[in-house]
Amino acid sequence: QQQERSELLKAYELSARVYRSILMNTVQGRDALAYLRSRGMSDELIETFQLGYAPNMWDALAKQLEKSGFLLPSMERGGLLSAKADGQGFVDKFRDRVMIPIHDPKGRVIAFGGRAMGDVQPKYLNSPETALFHKSHSLFNLHRARTDIRKREQIVLFEGYFDVIRAWDAGVHHGVATMGTALTAEHAEAIKRLTGEAVICYDGDSAGQAAAFKSIPLLEQAGLIVKVAMLPDGKDPDEYIAAFGPERFVREVIEGAVTSTKFRLLYARRNFRLQEEADRLRYLSGAVKLIAGLPSPLEREHYLRELASEFDVSLDALKADVAELLLRRE
Ligand code: ATP
Ligand code: MN
Ligand code: MN
Ligand code: MN
Repeated sequence: QQQERSELLKAYELSARVYRSILMNTVQGRDALAYLRSRGMSDELIETFQLGYAPNMWDALAKQLEKSGFLLPSMERGGLLSAKADGQGFVDKFRDRVMIPIHDPKGRVIAFGGRAMGDVQPKYLNSPETALFHKSHSLFNLHRARTDIRKREQIVLFEGYFDVIRAWDAGVHHGVATMGTALTAEHAEAIKRLTGEAVICYDGDSAGQAAAFKSIPLLEQAGLIVKVAMLPDGKDPDEYIAAFGPERFVREVIEGAVTSTKFRLLYARRNFRLQEEADRLRYLSGAVKLIAGLPSPLEREHYLRELASEFDVSLDALKADVAELLLRRE
């Protein structure tokens, strides 16, 4: 078991080097390099993230692994190769994909995310769960971000690899991402061990906002203060930076992140037509309930004041509603 893990670590390290060298030094890697550049990736960024390319061949990696003495069946268990359909031998698992190495907290390669360049499905192929890689508690980029997470006393959570990479280029060096899975309680616990505050910066589409809504309680239950950065027009962070530039991303999106309560109040609006009186009342009553659930009287007052001024109702009336809800709860 221990033996298999350490073999696999070596195999992943070799694979990352092979993919990288194919991207940077071969004709086969040319389109992939052009693809990365078209997505705004400088050579420096490609270097920092050790990006690579798995060529459009059946056995480019398999041959290298075999040459280096790795046992192919264990490479298949390790997620680098696939068994051929006829059971005779192995082929590369990743073909014709841009390869993004995923590291453990010590900086050792333990998995890959593979991005197809055309309209191939799936868009991303991630390494399967192996002896090394567990999606439910791995975070992409954590080993690079750790120092800045500590320094800034904050972590930024993204949905996608390219969001993390582009944000890094924009100077946000404390960003990480889950890998095609929702955030788990284990992720939240791991984050809490590093810092006290998490900024959720998911995609601005409805899926991203719904995921943010679900992640808030997980993070708060781990004891983290949670903020939510919001992106306009359904953009994701990568698209936002491409459209509006890095400075505006940092200033408006990251530094403009709102409190989790504010986000939940805004999120609740999606179901209502606030120009209509009946909807306005229903929204207000839901909002008051949400605010009544806050433990701090000061915070309750703060959000009630905001509601009162936005909806032109009296603060006293809102306070009376909250008092009634709290009384009923006792
Ligand atoms: P890109 O910018 O390259 O188009 P993205 O990161 O914006 O990709 P999303 O669709 O927003 O892609 O998905 C967010 C993340 O979810 C991805 O970065 C990837 O980790 C994961 N993911 C997306 N699609 C898949 C898939 N088909 N299988 C596994 N994981 C996926
Ligand atoms: Mn998305
Ligand atoms: Mn996205
Ligand atoms: Mn994207």
